[in-house]
Amino acid sequence: MLYKSTRSNKKATATAAKVIKQGLAEDGGLFVPESVPTLTLDEIKALCNESYPVRAATVLSKFLTDYTYEELLADCKEAYSETSFVGGAAPLVNIHDQFESLELWHGPTAAFKDMALQIMPRLLSRALKKTGEERTALILVATSGDTGKAALEGYKDVPGIKIMVFYPVDGVSRVQKLQMATQTGSNVNVCAIRGNFDDAQNGVKVIFGDKEMAQKLDEKGYFFSSANSINWGRLAPQIVYYVSAYCDLLSSGKCKLGDSFNVCVPTGNFGNIFAAYLAKLMGLPIGHMVCASNRNNILTDFLRTGTYDRNRDFYLTMSPSMDILISSNLERLLYFTAGSEKTAAYMKSLKETGCYTVDKEILDAIRANFSGYYTDEADTAKTIHDTFKAYGYLADTHTAVAIHAAEAYVAETGDTRPMVIDSTASPYKFANNVYRAVSEKDAASELEALDALSTETKTEIPYPLAGLASRKVRFEQVVNKDQMAQTVLEYLDN
Ligand SMILES: *Cc1c(COP(=O)(O)O)cnc(C)c1O
Repeated sequence: MLYKSTRSNKKATATAAKVIKQGLAEDGGLFVPESVPTLTLDEIKALCNESYPVRAATVLSKFLTDYTYEELLADCKEAYSETSFVGGAAPLVNIHDQFESLELWHGPTAAFKDMALQIMPRLLSRALKKTGEERTALILVATSGDTGKAALEGYKDVPGIKIMVFYPVDGVSRVQKLQMATQTGSNVNVCAIRGNFDDAQNGVKVIFGDKEMAQKLDEKGYFFSSANSINWGRLAPQIVYYVSAYCDLLSSGKCKLGDSFNVCVPTGNFGNIFAAYLAKLMGLPIGHMVCASNRNNILTDFLRTGTYDRNRDFYLTMSPSMDILISSNLERLLYFTAGSEKTAAYMKSLKETGCYTVDKEILDAIRANFSGYYTDEADTAKTIHDTFKAYGYLADTHTAVAIHAAEAYVAETGDTRPMVIDSTASPYKFANNVYRAVSEKDAASELEALDALSTETKTEIPYPLAGLASRKVRFEQVVNKDQMAQTVLEYLDN
């Protein structure tokens, strides 16, 4: 299996190892496989009795053909171990007759980014060997909180890689700060900067683009790499849990082999829901895909009108991981629906005007598979409250956006097939807002909201967030934003 850019009509030439190491294609496009491998119903049936790591290695081996099955299985067993994902990697939990919650947050940071970031660093580590790279990869991340922590947990102690995370000193929550400051691992570093998230992100961009820095790194035996969410190494592992969910629907008798099911995905960058689409193209019997957005409803508008227009107000919501105006992975769907030439033209228009409109037949083809719904702040809180009171199911803010969207889809279409709703974060990750929605009271502080939520709902605080205040703080460095490059170099010398 070889890979090509979404914006090029040239033949595919890149191996999986190369695309995982490189991230973005030379022309600025995203890497896509030259064809979609098939997954037969017999293969799916055989996976029903297998563990998550076996399901993952089986699906990944169809895409990463320059990795052996044994390599992939070894990596999947480590990534999705019982110690990292207590109780299993992607359990399907019943909400009511029609809705099932696919809980993707049982990993080490209690959010769904772990599903990809626990395996991707291992794939990168092997990619370095496979491409003859002798230098150590230095991953630089600017974070507003959650991605940084998930990356730290993913890359910690992975051979051939070091990681450094910058965050705005006053721009992350107390819980997020504690999570990063207490990070374990011998190849990790965390540094706060005096500035906001944009300063941190710009700082990292400048360092990435600085030839002199690259030279200095090279002399020390390093090169820069990124943990970007458009990397194929992050996308491919997300296909797995849709297959796994179907296996679980078969095992519980909710579906018979060949019956289709729908999915509803709380969407930001369009990575998670695009993985569902790929699973469907492989042969998984997915019916309809519901794309759920919060008040930043650019995707809802796109799926309804065919126009993607980022010239609009940006809102901060209680589902911050979906506060996004550029859904990068949508480019992959455009490629599969409209081809490389049109995709390149749409992306050019997006860059120049912030806007593009797809042809009617392309919109029709997309709408045959996808519908967009959005949930405002009041309905998000109400859904958390009502879902807990009616079914005893405690949803986080992102999951609640999706539950509400799924309800709207079912009400509008009358579609009665089983609906798998991606649950992308533990309710404890957003304990303040979840506690307020459930109890209609405010907790005294963010840390206290964890205990208050646990007492109120009689549920347990997940291990990544329990006992946070008593862990050993390892990283306390704060620097000015113009000292970031120097801080990187000092870290490499230590
Ligand atoms: C990243 C994230 C999302 C959005 O996923 P995309 O793949 O970017 O669409 C949704 N919920 C949570 C909690 C996330 O961290």
